[in-house]
Amino acid sequence: MRVPMYDHAAAYAAMRTDLDEAVHRVLASGRLDWGPEVPAFEGEFAAWYGAGNAVGTNSGTAALKIALLGLGIGPGDEVITAPNSDIGTVAAIHHTGARAVWADVEPDTLNLDPVQVEAAITPRTRALLPVHLYGHAADMPALSAIAERHDLFVVEDACLAVGAEVAGRPAGRWGDAAAISFAPSKHLGGYGTGGMILSDDPELAERMRRIGAYGQPRERHYGGGSAGAGMHHTHEGINERLDELQAALLRAKLPGLDAAIAGRRAHAATYREGLEGYDLALPPERDGYRHSYRNYVIQVEGRERVEARLAEAGVASSRPYAPPLHLQPVYRHLGFGPGSFPVAEASAERLLALPIRPDLSAAQVDHVVGSVRRAL
Ligand SMILES: *Cc1c(COP(=O)(O)O)cnc(C)c1O
Repeated sequence: MRVPMYDHAAAYAAMRTDLDEAVHRVLASGRLDWGPEVPAFEGEFAAWYGAGNAVGTNSGTAALKIALLGLGIGPGDEVITAPNSDIGTVAAIHHTGARAVWADVEPDTLNLDPVQVEAAITPRTRALLPVHLYGHAADMPALSAIAERHDLFVVEDACLAVGAEVAGRPAGRWGDAAAISFAPSKHLGGYGTGGMILSDDPELAERMRRIGAYGQPRERHYGGGSAGAGMHHTHEGINERLDELQAALLRAKLPGLDAAIAGRRAHAATYREGLEGYDLALPPERDGYRHSYRNYVIQVEGRERVEARLAEAGVASSRPYAPPLHLQPVYRHLGFGPGSFPVAEASAERLLALPIRPDLSAAQVDHVVGSVRRAL
């Protein structure tokens, strides 16, 4: 039996009719840009999330960047974030002209450690950018309190956290803004790249929408500049919007999102049942938190041996975000080395992600459990 990490072709086959209809609807409409799909999806996604506003972008990285730009963050500013994330998290900060400042993470959830965050605050700090790693929310009650005390913005990287909660509130609903990714293997996976910003502040959301769309109001684009209104640029914008085809495809998938998250949690429960008591650390789900399992990441000694045995058994595995960013060649000039963020570094030596997509069969999940046990 083979258990690949992802099987996008099978997932397509399972809902082909709806996806084909979405593509054909856009193509036949002739409205390839500035059509009805993006605003409709923004509304539907905001409603699903319980957020006041949603702004479509063309990636999670763009969502982070535009959120920071919308808050006025730029050169001279510092933004505190975690070193064990997607490079988009840090690149987004640097693309605004601000400086990313890393703080170490907590040993169980591998999310920002509030104590380390507070120690990293300087007079230049403008924002906290917590990452809800793998689908387990960061300690938002503590981080929000720190932000309040120091008068900082909070931008959540919720790219891995759709469906996660802490203290009864969804991850992505705590900060001034949150970024979501629709990369193909995320909770709500698109067909290419896409993203979304969530914010409850309508003025901020409108500013972000303009920044992502050439710096002018959307209505001007719908007029095509030819409806007598002309162009009206209020911001120096970029072009990092969600597109009509992607929005139509995501609209077709949104009704299945709750079931997909439930499927991930069910597989995680089976993994826990099957692997508890073995010589590995299972992913935590703290009291008061709801994990949405974008990744199922165990920590294990002798990882290479386990990886090799899993591969022999046909089970895919991966090392998400390892080594951490401060040890990547691109950031060598920043002067960090081994020992800079010991908790993130120690976990990077041991972590191993197992397949957890919702469309795994029961037999595949059992095969993963058996293969991990045999590999230890
Ligand atoms: C996927 C991801 C991003 C980047 O999203 P893209 O859509 O790939 O640009 C940023 N941060 C985290 C934590 C992610 O998982």
